[in-house]
Amino acid sequence: MTAGGTGLRLPAQSRADVLLGQAIAHYDRSDPVAAQELAKVVADGDDPVLRARALTLLVRCHLVLDEHVEALALAREALDLCWRIGDRASEAILHATVGRSLAFTGDPVSAMEEIITALEVADASGDLTARMTATGTAATVYYYLEQFDVCIEFSERAAEMARILGDEVTNGAMIDTMACANMCLAEAARSAGDETGARALSVLAQSQSREAIVVARRLGHRRHEVIALGNLAESLSFSGHVEEALELFTGWQIDPARDSPSIITHLLDSQGSACLAAGRYEEAIVHLRASLAAAESKNSAMVAAEHLADAYERHGDLRGALDTYKMFHALSKEVASEAAKRSGSIAVVRLETAQAKAAAEEERARVEALQHANKELLRQSLEDPLTGLANRRHLDELMADGLAGHAILLVDVDHFKRVNDEHSHLIGDRVLRRLAGLLRSACRGDDAVVRFGGEEFAVLLAGTDLHDATTTAQRLRAQVAAHDWTAVAQGLAVTVSIGLALGDESTDPTVVLGRADERLYAAKRAGRNRVHGPAESP
Ligand code: GH3
Ligand code: MG
Ligand code: MG
Repeated sequence: MTAGGTGLRLPAQSRADVLLGQAIAHYDRSDPVAAQELAKVVADGDDPVLRARALTLLVRCHLVLDEHVEALALAREALDLCWRIGDRASEAILHATVGRSLAFTGDPVSAMEEIITALEVADASGDLTARMTATGTAATVYYYLEQFDVCIEFSERAAEMARILGDEVTNGAMIDTMACANMCLAEAARSAGDETGARALSVLAQSQSREAIVVARRLGHRRHEVIALGNLAESLSFSGHVEEALELFTGWQIDPARDSPSIITHLLDSQGSACLAAGRYEEAIVHLRASLAAAESKNSAMVAAEHLADAYERHGDLRGALDTYKMFHALSKEVASEAAKRSGSIAVVRLETAQAKAAAEEERARVEALQHANKELLRQSLEDPLTGLANRRHLDELMADGLAGHAILLVDVDHFKRVNDEHSHLIGDRVLRRLAGLLRSACRGDDAVVRFGGEEFAVLLAGTDLHDATTTAQRLRAQVAAHDWTAVAQGLAVTVSIGLALGDESTDPTVVLGRADERLYAAKRAGRNRVHGPAESP
């Protein structure tokens, strides 16, 4: 049985990124080499978000090409980038991919750790595509680990998410995975002497394989079609429908232009196995020899050699059986030693990844602390500590864009020196704080209230004409005068004088500010507790 499950997708792409979209389409079409070419271009680009996604895709390409060490090394780089830019969706997909690679290379404990992380990160990301990918990969990993019940549960969930997303490729792959898992359960039932259970499970597997074939045909996905076809033939043979199994292959034409060597190897192996089950040994030998000849990877050559040795033996050709078995044995030794070497380098990369993650987290915490400190410093530099209002530096910044269309009020406490002298400096401070609160609450949210210096305040009235600015200034003045200051100090009364200028009086904000200052002093001279604007100007 061969679990499909390679059609898992990356999260939704930005439309601008045509190249990455094409790369993903190639990947979904089981053409990882073409996908790699395009993804590499994007991975070399400037946009870190797209780079992270391209790297993630490249990791997955390495995985389907059986390049596990490369997949892991690149995953480390990609995770680094994801942590830096906070791309949780890609991070989840990477953990899932690493988990799958580890399961494949025989490290089930680490594989489970990665899968659990992938599911957690995917949930936290809130990205349905990431959740589907993590869930679907979990299903595949549980299949490798021969936990078929759990595999089916995860496959069902992933297929459900794929249907919501309209992702037919993943939906089909998950249905195929369920068929495979059910067939494994059927075989286990038969071994345990439960023939009724075995038949029921293989019938279920058959209907799922048929559904997977329909989906693959609708999509024109040759690889998924061949895989599902092989699985269906196997489950039909299992339940004794050998002729029906053989018929599946009669209409199927290999097209070397469209079908990769791995598809051809797989198809010939399935066909040979069906012949073997039907007792047609000579035909089985022809197909299995062709499968062995077409095999590109040691793994698929090993599978074909094992089946071929079996076919020779049943046919009574013991010489052929022995020679092919020797070949199978040599291949499996090579595969095992390569796997051992690989798990050594994988362990190193995993360790480096864990260290890099710890370093990245430390760095992120440091950057956050610095940003916080910077914000605090910035806030302090623009804020008056006594009143909490913006300070003069902030006003300069606000005025840098010009004052056109706005109005400015300069508000000065009348005879403030007397407050200090007659009450105390402390009471004076309280008066300033309370006045700041009064001004702030009497203005609109987009107006700026600034402590200009000493007992002088500036109010920048956003988008305000002379009439409205005068009304506001009079209201502020009246509110201060009417305020019950005796709560601050017995017998205390406070008034303010206000100078008003319009932004349109000059293109130079300092000139506007100078006019407001002149009018403030005119108001003082005129007797205080009053507003002077352009109309009152001499
Ligand atoms: P006028 O009506 O002409 O504005 O009279 P005034 O007394 O308010 O003006 P003057 O500029 O002579 O005095 C301002 C006083 O404000 C002097 C200074 O001690 C006091 N002052 C400035 N900043 C603070 C402060 O932060 N706290 C306190 N308590 N007093 C301050
Ligand atoms: Mg004063
Ligand atoms: Mg003053």
